[in-house]
Amino acid sequence: MEKKQTILIVEDERKISSFIKRGLTDAGYFVDTAFTGDEALDKVSEEFSLIILDLMLPDMDGFDICKKIRKDGIQVPMIILTAKNSTEDKIKGLDIGADDYLTKPFAIGELLSRIKALLRRGPSISGGELKVGDLILNTKTHEVYRNGKLIELSQKEFSILEYMMYNKDIVLTRTMIEDHAWDYEFDNFSNVVDVYIRMLRKKIDDGYKNKIIKTIRGVGYKVKG
Ligand code: CA
Repeated sequence: MEKKQTILIVEDERKISSFIKRGLTDAGYFVDTAFTGDEALDKVSEEFSLIILDLMLPDMDGFDICKKIRKDGIQVPMIILTAKNSTEDKIKGLDIGADDYLTKPFAIGELLSRIKALLRRGPSISGGELKVGDLILNTKTHEVYRNGKLIELSQKEFSILEYMMYNKDIVLTRTMIEDHAWDYEFDNFSNVVDVYIRMLRKKIDDGYKNKIIKTIRGVGYKVKG
């Protein structure tokens, strides 16, 4: 049997902490929790597979915790999970060494898929670049290149592509993509995801023999190099 991976949740709100804990436990991970910055710094070690870090803690600023962990040379993948949703905070978080940034409120499914992506990829993506074949997406500058050529994307298109590239080789259903890119729900017959995928294909795959966006009939989509 594969060794179970342990995730550290640093979160002062007990309700959120136990909600995440339940989701992760159900998904087959071991979980440890810290409710303050002090406790987090006490517990943090290379033994963890991943750290989920809240920014607003009673005794410490999450950014400082993140900095301290990286300064100590601990390279465990880290996801910042916070109500702070400004682009500045997001950039700051990624700059000081977090690997991903997810804002509250969040869907547990999205957190899980980001965890999966990070654990598969290991801690080496801190540079902010996602790569699938010759397609490169920079999460910091929001630029996308295929074969060295800059591609202009709308914010929504970028968000969908980023999500798909984080989860490369994984089939994403329309509902997963919808949940990620929109805050409101569509009715079941909405084809908004298909519309966006069509637009993305036009910009990314048109003119290339190797198509990066694949349709998985009856299920959804995935990106593959
Ligand atoms: Ca908090």
